[in-house]
Amino acid sequence: MLRLGIDVGGTFIKAGVVDESYAIVHKVSVPTEGDAGYRPVVQNIARVAELAAREAGRSVKDFALVGIGIPGLLNPRTGVVVSAPNLNGWRDVPFLDEIRNLLPAPVRVGNDANCAVVGETLAGAAKGNENVVMLTLGTGVGGGIITDGRLFTGGHGLGAELGHMVLHMDGETCGCGMDGCIEAYCSVTSLVKQTRRAMEADPTSAMHGYAREAGLVDGRTAFECSKMGDKAAAKVVEAYCRYLARSIGSLVTAFRPDVVLIGGGLSNQRAYLMDKLNALLPKYVFASDVIGVPPVIRATLGNDAGTIGAAYLDRM
Ligand SMILES: [Zn+2]
Repeated sequence: MLRLGIDVGGTFIKAGVVDESYAIVHKVSVPTEGDAGYRPVVQNIARVAELAAREAGRSVKDFALVGIGIPGLLNPRTGVVVSAPNLNGWRDVPFLDEIRNLLPAPVRVGNDANCAVVGETLAGAAKGNENVVMLTLGTGVGGGIITDGRLFTGGHGLGAELGHMVLHMDGETCGCGMDGCIEAYCSVTSLVKQTRRAMEADPTSAMHGYAREAGLVDGRTAFECSKMGDKAAAKVVEAYCRYLARSIGSLVTAFRPDVVLIGGGLSNQRAYLMDKLNALLPKYVFASDVIGVPPVIRATLGNDAGTIGAAYLDRM
């Protein structure tokens, strides 16, 4: 039977019809319209489900499951979204109850980063593994954990917020309001901040010319200039790799995954990021000399991971 995975983003709600071999056979999207408040978003989610069903020649009741990934803090069992800053600040909304009333199919909800790790474990880079930790590096740092083949979300489904574990005591301020979070060092947003600082400190750095040509400073600036031999850029990359390797090291010590996945565009930096993480990791993992360390690899499904994982939330 077909399933529907829905990925609710700040700008678009994307839906994918997913078949039994985890392939997305049809995609549609509608604007989120989050500025207008909570209700219109719920209506748009129902609308995208109907649209996807119709375009796939079905109706919503034909789906074995409609799974919905939400960018926020939520209890997957009660379906209450406690907070979702990217959705215009949803607070304590009974999301699952309301969307269930609009959709004539079984519905599950999950955090978007959790949907991504489920998707990658069922059908992507971590396929066949029972223990997986995934970090998605973007505007923030999303985290997901699979232990013994089950999605681990902590008490009330409100844990596993890996990006907000502390890397540095009294460190950089994080978007969440705390100091020193992994996200405040390892997100692409933070990397850009580190890159800008290095540029300000060194007017001779090749990063200035590179950024001028590209029209912006982004997550690639330091990596690409490091490849060209720029010293200031190399320092940024070096520090960033250490922040990330240390973060991964603690997660490996806690969860002992068989594999660590890195999602987001930065994971395409093979030699300058992925290889370095693998080389640094043993230093930062407890008893690595005795039990080794898992490989750190690139997630392969991109945005589809969240769609596939949402559609199969009941599998893990
Ligand atoms: Zn934080």
